[in-house]
Amino acid sequence: DNELPRPIETLYAALAETAALRKSLPVRQAVVHWFKMDLRLHDNRSLWLASQKAKEAGVPLICLYVLSPEDLEAHLRAPIRVDFMLRTLEVLMTDLEDLGIPLWVETVEKRKEVPNRIKELMKSWGASHLFCAMEYEVDELRREAKLVKLLAEGEKGEKMAADVVHDTCVVMPGALQSGSGGQYAVYSPWFRAWIKHVEENPECLEIYEKPGPNPPGTKEKHENLFACSIPEAPEGKRLQDDEKARYHSIWPAGEHEAFKRLEKFCDEAIGKYAERRNIPAMQGTSNLSVHFASGTLSARTAIRTARDRNNTKKLNGGNEGIQRWISEVAWRDFYKHVLVHWPYVCMNKPFKPTYSNIEWSYNVDHFHAWTQGRTGFPIIDAAMRQVLATGYMHNRLRMIVASFLAKDLLVDWRMGERYFMEHLIDGDFASNNGGWGFAASVGVDPQPYFRVFNPLLQSEKFDPDGDYIRKWVEELRDLPDLKGGKGGEIHDPYGRGSEKVKRKLEEKGYPRPIVEHSGARDRALDAYKRGLARD
Ligand code: FAD
Repeated sequence: DNELPRPIETLYAALAETAALRKSLPVRQAVVHWFKMDLRLHDNRSLWLASQKAKEAGVPLICLYVLSPEDLEAHLRAPIRVDFMLRTLEVLMTDLEDLGIPLWVETVEKRKEVPNRIKELMKSWGASHLFCAMEYEVDELRREAKLVKLLAEGEKGEKMAADVVHDTCVVMPGALQSGSGGQYAVYSPWFRAWIKHVEENPECLEIYEKPGPNPPGTKEKHENLFACSIPEAPEGKRLQDDEKARYHSIWPAGEHEAFKRLEKFCDEAIGKYAERRNIPAMQGTSNLSVHFASGTLSARTAIRTARDRNNTKKLNGGNEGIQRWISEVAWRDFYKHVLVHWPYVCMNKPFKPTYSNIEWSYNVDHFHAWTQGRTGFPIIDAAMRQVLATGYMHNRLRMIVASFLAKDLLVDWRMGERYFMEHLIDGDFASNNGGWGFAASVGVDPQPYFRVFNPLLQSEKFDPDGDYIRKWVEELRDLPDLKGGKGGEIHDPYGRGSEKVKRKLEEKGYPRPIVEHSGARDRALDAYKRGLARD
């Protein structure tokens, strides 16, 4: 589709050029695993490969994490996400130390310096081999291509070998081809191919053991590496003390917590997932996205655990909740496959170029009202306040608020996409971009542009008793509990409430709706139609 090679092809070319070196280079004094978004010991393919290499050669395994403030900024990492990552590193460091494996955390201001710094560190450790997992965003693929070549050039005849391996998806990008031989742009046929592929290739769900202990004497030899401590979050990414207290109890970090959450979800909720997954007031979903995004849980382990609970012991058939959950986790793979094949989605472009011509509004007051949960639409305000309070939002609500921003407010969807990345604890480029593309109808396999969610109907359908709204919108907390009733005032208090209720809400400062839905809908349809006609 593009004239230039895709970034993944550039990395594959660098790996192919250096394949002979990887095979023949003798291991020197150490092997390195570079942790990125794979912050776990269990079922970590790259870590396992590195540990095997070190074990065969009888040398220590050294683990590395590189913190680049510029990189965190460029990737719009939310402070809550950075904090989660630093807490996870603490857990990793302790667990690795128990195995006599050091974790060195290096801070590198400028991200373009990362490959060189890794090379210098490896040289100082006498390390010959590096392993890491592949990340599929454009910058990361290009960085890793550069690193592979840089290490292979070596220094004073001392070449180094780097292996960048697939790990984050259950099925690696590029493995599934549509009938015409390209990447699927529609989820359903892609998912059928995904199931078939996993069943025909059982290694997709192979679990990699955690590394064994380092050889005796490693601690003495690398004393300085064991003295490393986890740095503070860089400026601009720090949480206030009260935020820390709140978030730490909601989001305990590290892979042990991920396992506990997965087990609890599989024990208590997965069976009812199909019925409850759209009701935000219920604990119907797994809340595991933060762990998938940080790599504290591998998608392989999750899918395998769910499959093993199914009475069919298969990915499909059997328990409806389990099947449904597996298909949701697969969406994560789908969006990563899309990103690899159409990397321009990384560059602020809609998946469908014809959608570039829509004239978006840049109404700052509307955008601000949306971010602060002050639109006067209770379901939207509840969801946006949940993000501010917890760094998380339920999937159904992500779709409703994204549709509201892009269609009812006609605000450029990229402003919402960015805001989500800056605030979500589970911010993940591919899934976020895919979700926004779906809701704003500009992405791969989107909802059609003429389908505009009606916030009132969505509110009545998915929060029928108003419990979710009541939890997050303090001003509406006193409105009566509906318990099964429809048409209640909590969904539309200024439209349906009595004069007394309206007066009370005004006193409390709850805003009136900032737009009128049906007029806003017409305006959106018109803008989309005009944009498409301009193509
Ligand atoms: P569960 O329902 O338990 O699902 C299990 C896992 O499957 C999730 O943890 C997630 O990894 C994956 N998953 C589920 N639904 C989707 C989906 N639609 N797309 C991709 N993966 C999915 N997810 C993120 O992880 N990071 C994001 O930044 C993100 N941004 C989104 C933005 C928008 C506008 C939309 C509509 C969706 C977004 N999603 C994102 C997808 C989804 O909303 C979350 O993954 C889900 O709400 C997380 O809750 P859970 O772990 O309880 O999910």
